[in-house]
Amino acid sequence: MQPPDVVHMTAHEARGLLDRGEVSSVELTQAVLDRIHEVEDKVKAFVTVTDELALEQARRADERIASGDAQPLTGVPMQLKDNMCTRGVATTCSSRMLQNFVPTYSATVTRRLYEQGAVLMGKGNLDEFAMGSSTENSGFFPTRNPWDLERVPGGSSGGPAAAVAAGECVYSLGSDTGGSVRQPAALCGVVGMKPTYGVVSRYGLVAFASSLDQIGPITKDVTDCAIVLSAVAGHDPADSTSIRFDVPDYAAALKKDLSGLRIGVPEEYFIEGLEKGVEGAVRQAIDVLKDLGAEIQETSLPHTGYALAVYYILAPSEASANLARYDGVKYGYAAQDAGSMWDALEKTRQQGFGPEVKRRIMLGTYALSAGYHDAYYIKAQKVRTLIRQELQEAFTRFDALVMPTSPSVAFRLGDKMDDPVQMYLNDILTMPANIAGIPGISVPCGVVDGLPVGLQFMANAMGEETLLRVAYAYEQATQWHTLRPNL
Ligand code: GLN
Repeated sequence: MQPPDVVHMTAHEARGLLDRGEVSSVELTQAVLDRIHEVEDKVKAFVTVTDELALEQARRADERIASGDAQPLTGVPMQLKDNMCTRGVATTCSSRMLQNFVPTYSATVTRRLYEQGAVLMGKGNLDEFAMGSSTENSGFFPTRNPWDLERVPGGSSGGPAAAVAAGECVYSLGSDTGGSVRQPAALCGVVGMKPTYGVVSRYGLVAFASSLDQIGPITKDVTDCAIVLSAVAGHDPADSTSIRFDVPDYAAALKKDLSGLRIGVPEEYFIEGLEKGVEGAVRQAIDVLKDLGAEIQETSLPHTGYALAVYYILAPSEASANLARYDGVKYGYAAQDAGSMWDALEKTRQQGFGPEVKRRIMLGTYALSAGYHDAYYIKAQKVRTLIRQELQEAFTRFDALVMPTSPSVAFRLGDKMDDPVQMYLNDILTMPANIAGIPGISVPCGVVDGLPVGLQFMANAMGEETLLRVAYAYEQATQWHTLRPNL
């Protein structure tokens, strides 16, 4: 038998092959492991590869398939970003602080995928504690973009996006606090979705900014995005912010026509500094939406311009509180050469955290400190409300909004590392969705100079089905999602 083409294979295609007995999960898993061993030296998308666990899970999946009990993701090889807890498998957040941390429990998303019979290939590299947009802040090594190894894959879920694009897994899960699923998906030419805040449980996701964090699928097409979302979404008693609702079969929402759908084009998202190639690809995509029957209308969301400032007050504030737990006592790295308790605490955090994480902690503690709390943190919360209200109002007029995912295509490694503000600007088009708690998706919409461009849609809270429907209709009318990098 021919080895399966794992570079292109989607979960729904794998399902067909597995159910018809044309390939076993063990064979598929072995093919993906071979692919990992072939390209991983170049891409570096994994912090940990779980060969043995994967083959063991694949054997069990084959038994389950044979007994007629297969679910949509049974036996399909996947990856998890390394900030999602996996019982018995190191969960490092790509930080020296958690380099040797092996959780005693699994995140709810991990558990739900395991219950479906999913096969874990390993843990995806990220910017340390998910802080960054290029995966260069990983405490271990940067991940490279499979389309051009001199360029970044985006971040912070750069490992997951690169692994999916390179065929080192069929799909992955990322976390998105300001754009960390959608932006790397755009830069690597794959699909990435941030669901509504509360749709996917955060239990067992190592916290960065708890009011913004949300887990989402990174997949090769929109159908897989719907399938993976159906598998992981839903209320979880272990996460008090998770929403009580009946999880729909998201794949049933996928339709090829958009007649009657009202889509807004907010002018503020076509910012100065948007690369010409990106703008061109997005404008062309909007014409495709028109041809599919959507009613396209320009609109204005004037508060958009404040989103970046609000985000860089709130996210570091929450991070500074969440990261206080790394004290060298409870878990993680502990400095050994300390004289006193305070000395131990100081050295642990000095040695365990990288420069960007320290910068966030300092920004956050400053914004929360007694004299500045009202001027920064409270003010940012107020502006957050205005941004949310403005978006809510827009969704009385529109079913969805369309815009670019990222202002640029993948940039070169090292290009933005000396200038944090340049780096922060990468997420300017994605973070409003986190601030408002609404869902967003990025789908491939072009290739400029050999590098992928992402098209973003946003919808109202709980509008996942609308979002998937527009993204699917666009995808099916174009060929962009079928392109893979030549590695
Ligand atoms: N790039 C943004 C940041 O550094 C967003 C990161 C994310 O979504 N995790 O905070």
